[in-house]
Amino acid sequence: MSGASAMDTDDRTETPLARLLRRQILADGPQPVSAIMALALTHPEAGYYTTRDPFGARGDFTTAPEISQIFGELVGLFFLQHWLDLGAPAPLHLVELGPGRGTLMADALRAAALRPAFGAALRLHLVEVSPVLKAAQARALGSVSPRWHGHAGSALAAAEAEGGALFVLGNEFLDALPIRQFVHARGAFRERLVGLAPDGAFTFGLGGPVPSGIIDPPAGAASEGTLLERCPEAEALLARLAGLFRTRMGLALFIDYGSSEDGTGDTLQAMAAHGPAPVLEALGGQDLTAHVNFARLRARARAEGAAVHGPVTQGAFLEALGLSARAARLAERGADADILAGARRLADPSGMGTLFKAMAIGPEGAPPPPGFDTALDRPAPDRRSRP
Ligand code: SAH
Repeated sequence: MSGASAMDTDDRTETPLARLLRRQILADGPQPVSAIMALALTHPEAGYYTTRDPFGARGDFTTAPEISQIFGELVGLFFLQHWLDLGAPAPLHLVELGPGRGTLMADALRAAALRPAFGAALRLHLVEVSPVLKAAQARALGSVSPRWHGHAGSALAAAEAEGGALFVLGNEFLDALPIRQFVHARGAFRERLVGLAPDGAFTFGLGGPVPSGIIDPPAGAASEGTLLERCPEAEALLARLAGLFRTRMGLALFIDYGSSEDGTGDTLQAMAAHGPAPVLEALGGQDLTAHVNFARLRARARAEGAAVHGPVTQGAFLEALGLSARAARLAERGADADILAGARRLADPSGMGTLFKAMAIGPEGAPPPPGFDTALDRPAPDRRSRP
């Protein structure tokens, strides 16, 4: 960009969100990574999720329920079985966080309809920021009269006020929550910020030292260049759920990609057209996500008194719930090759089988949920790329 300064960058090449952010940085200075991620994904007029349906071949990425109907069916049977194990409590508040197109819930409820009492007890809550995806969810799930909420807190408050059991489901929800990043530099951890380079491009920088005690680094992590990620919203959500499960029966199931270990390193990534993209480019026009730190979420939920199951790999979890048997039955009935290939992709280590993990939290002392006790975990290195 020869001869351009921060002020005269060509506006026409920028996304609306990038223009907005540029103005904010010029007015208020560099912004933390978490603020960038929150704006880029959920700004009401210019955010990524708020302005589009990102899934499918013509979109930017795909998710397990969009790959295979078996995923949602097994999740539905998982909840149905656990609800029966708890004595079929009613009402049953089922809260889905970030339901996308509603495909997962539609497949799950079709499978759970095996027991009509489940549907009769069901009060469905959908937590969604995107008007575009809300409309898709209304098409897929309108017949069960869901209630929509703009954030998890309001869905949980509604369920809490009305009593009954609480089931929560989030597939690829936690990875969309804003992360903060901290880099150890010049003797201290400093928050990673996004500002403007002299040529007007967005660029990473570092703020002042953060007070000790804020980030609780793993042992040995304080060496020059170490990067830590923290997801305060995810940790607060797990703590809130653990608190609810002190007095209420139910279960929360999270499936997402990430690590079972509390590691270090930069996992922030952008996805566009099914491939990785530079994270500070086309802000608001491409997906931004980060690996879920299951170890920290697990520790947080346990510290608040909940029982935690897993994390186990998605492949082991789905196999324990009967993935192969279900795929074989569909094959016998002449299901097309796509359905079977999709089922394999969910569990295959080269697909989503080991990078993705399942973790559940519930009340201490309750019957264990299906799938976790028999899941034979196959440890595998956590890869950075998203299939
Ligand atoms: N569970 C779906 C979609 C996953 S994509 C599936 O498996 O296909 C993430 C979903 O979370 C989208 O529906 C997105 O709009 C929603 N979302 C992202 N950030 C959110 C937030 N902060 N609050 C509520 N919903 C959010």
